[in-house]
Amino acid sequence: MANCAWCHKKTDLPAVFAAEGPILEWMEKRIDKYCDDNNLTRSELWGGESDWNVIKLDEKMEAELLAYDELVASVSKKHICKECLIEDDIMYKKYYIDLDDDEDITLTIDDLK
Ligand SMILES: [Zn+2]
Repeated sequence: MANCAWCHKKTDLPAVFAAEGPILEWMEKRIDKYCDDNNLTRSELWGGESDWNVIKLDEKMEAELLAYDELVASVSKKHICKECLIEDDIMYKKYYIDLDDDEDITLTIDDLK
């Protein structure tokens, strides 16, 4: 038995490659709210296509985003329990599967007809 790296409960699942921490819903909501308040799209503020040089980003939010980025973007092999994996998958689908992916899937299905 090992301890889950995220919630510290015991788990007998094998080690997997996972981020330092799970996707945090309150942080995702904070990102969405900051976008709303500042008239930004989510991809302008967060993710691979964001460029903090061209948007208005206050220092406090920048520090929070950097800390969050370090948490969810640094991946290593660790034990994660089933509950955390399921929860993280739900959060990922809720906040990180964008509309473009859906369109791609639709196109692929149409191509097969
Ligand atoms: Zn866990």
